[in-house]
Amino acid sequence: MDRRLSPRERSVKRALDAVRDGCDVRARLPQDPVAVVHRYADIHDREIVALAASCIAFGNLKSIRAKLEDLLHRLGPHPARRADTPDSLRVLLHGWKHRVFVGEDIARLLAGARSVQREFGSLGACFERLLRESADLRGALASWCDAIRAGGGLGRSAVRRGPAHVLPDARGSSGCKRLLLLLRWMGRPADGIDLGLWKVDPAVLLVPVDVHVHKLALNLGLTRRRVPSWQTTEEITRALARFDSADPTKYDFSLCHLGMLQRCPSRRDARMCKGCGVQSVCIHWQGDDRRQTSSCGKKKRQSGQSRRRGEMGPFTC
Ligand code: SF4
Repeated sequence: MDRRLSPRERSVKRALDAVRDGCDVRARLPQDPVAVVHRYADIHDREIVALAASCIAFGNLKSIRAKLEDLLHRLGPHPARRADTPDSLRVLLHGWKHRVFVGEDIARLLAGARSVQREFGSLGACFERLLRESADLRGALASWCDAIRAGGGLGRSAVRRGPAHVLPDARGSSGCKRLLLLLRWMGRPADGIDLGLWKVDPAVLLVPVDVHVHKLALNLGLTRRRVPSWQTTEEITRALARFDSADPTKYDFSLCHLGMLQRCPSRRDARMCKGCGVQSVCIHWQGDDRRQTSSCGKKKRQSGQSRRRGEMGPFTC
């Protein structure tokens, strides 16, 4: 028993470990954008594909997968080699579109990534160096994006959102979910999902907070922040680090897929919550003095006594 943890934390850890242990990774992997990265053997191809897959991982999952397959089909079996010739890359990706991104944005992104690979040996080598120099994940991520932007001529357009949005700005307040997802894929040890290709200490990685993970984090009391900002990301990661400080993002894949499967309603709903792996520790199912949703859908407030006890607040770290 870990005596550092409160009884509530121990219960949440038990539930999360059970969800993780019970996650059928082989069955879930094909649904996840990281699956496409596993198709390639060469490190440069894997980096280029991982960057493209994570940067467009925005919106509906079915649409992301379809657009990604179209993109990879256009790039052919050696995407890194394709990215060596920006002009032909632009022609190949002409007409491709996903949300606010068009082929030109992806062509510049990949050409920039390829120029970083040529200069540093790999995208990972560049990131590792920046992280060593700054000892700050956020700063290293921002500088790494700068290098890719500069290499590909990927400026920020006043006319379209795509060029700015395709690589989030880690210096801003954004949670940078897509960049942190890429870091998890490349930096966490290889486990059948993540690839362990970059030499990054998993302890410094932050959880990529998408809508599913954010909902579950709120419902488990890992955060109270309603906006998935950088601070929210840090807060959720700190809470998960209480359970495994060496590898807090190890919970991300199973939590994200639990959220997708469960279609969490974020309220007490016997039908939709049935079978949810974290129901035993979900704030909506904690007892009469906790925040609940009545059958008519109106939220009841947590009792004053319960609020003062702080039982359902974020873990103190
Ligand atoms: S028990 Fe229901 S509300 Fe709570 S996390 Fe699971 S699905 Fe969401």
